[in-house]
Amino acid sequence: MEKIIKSAFTIDVECGINISMRDYFKVQMPPTERVVSNTHALLRLLFKHRTNATFFVLGDVAKTYPSLVKEIVADGHEVGVHSFGHNQLFKLSPDEALKDTRQAKDVIENIIARKVFGYRAPAFSVMPITSWALPMLAELGFTYDSSIMPVHAGRYGWPGFPNAITNIDLLNGRSIIEFPLSVTQLLHKQVPACGGGYLRLFPYWLTARSFVAINQRQPVNVYMHPYEIDTAIYPDYYLEAMQKLPLLRKLKLKSYRINKGTVLNKLDLLLGNFVFDTMKNIIETHTAKGKTNQISIDEMTGKLATS
Ligand SMILES: [Zn+2]
Repeated sequence: MEKIIKSAFTIDVECGINISMRDYFKVQMPPTERVVSNTHALLRLLFKHRTNATFFVLGDVAKTYPSLVKEIVADGHEVGVHSFGHNQLFKLSPDEALKDTRQAKDVIENIIARKVFGYRAPAFSVMPITSWALPMLAELGFTYDSSIMPVHAGRYGWPGFPNAITNIDLLNGRSIIEFPLSVTQLLHKQVPACGGGYLRLFPYWLTARSFVAINQRQPVNVYMHPYEIDTAIYPDYYLEAMQKLPLLRKLKLKSYRINKGTVLNKLDLLLGNFVFDTMKNIIETHTAKGKTNQISIDEMTGKLATS
């Protein structure tokens, strides 16, 4: 397959078990060791392909497993921030979000002894109603954000946001680069075909076709989570808690396991067939070539204007 433009391979490093236990069952517990073993498997795969990726690490995971974050950096990858407590931005006040983001950034920067550049919000929750987060990120010293899904989706999405790396003028002299999630047209719908659940559910040929369609024009933003390659049985306490959920919710959680066993192999093919780099490197190359889209944004309304 022809190799065209370097794309970004990104991993949101979180533990699905402790987040589900909190969000579904109100049980607080630290991230489990599975986030470590699954991230190790991804590090081995990236090493096999001599590929560098961007790991957006949850502050809670970094605090619990600081050596994991050091290993990611030692392998030459970029580390970014995925919030501290994994609460969607619209569930927090701007003050709470500031506290959460600063805490995560401080924890991670202390562990790796270097500055982080990028941020990804939990569940892509930078959207018109949370556009206040963009100036907050710029003020905290982030140079880029990669949280915007430029589609109309239920709980996330910013329809109309450009499908390209974009420099957002936040007025008052501030700006931030957005590397939005990649979407492509499938069956009359714009879908994020190269990430998460789509990567897991789609056959490889469909993912590759979507990848090529996007990659002809721009870098693809592939995203995934360590738990997406976790094929081990869930712990008993989790399975017991799940039995108490209403049927639909139970089915939804069970559906997250479908095709998990295929993900590692699909990633192996993607990494073999295309060229990837860290988000920071891709953004630097892109901006140096003067190719970056420009928009301005009214942070009060989230309204976009092409400038
Ligand atoms: Zn996440």
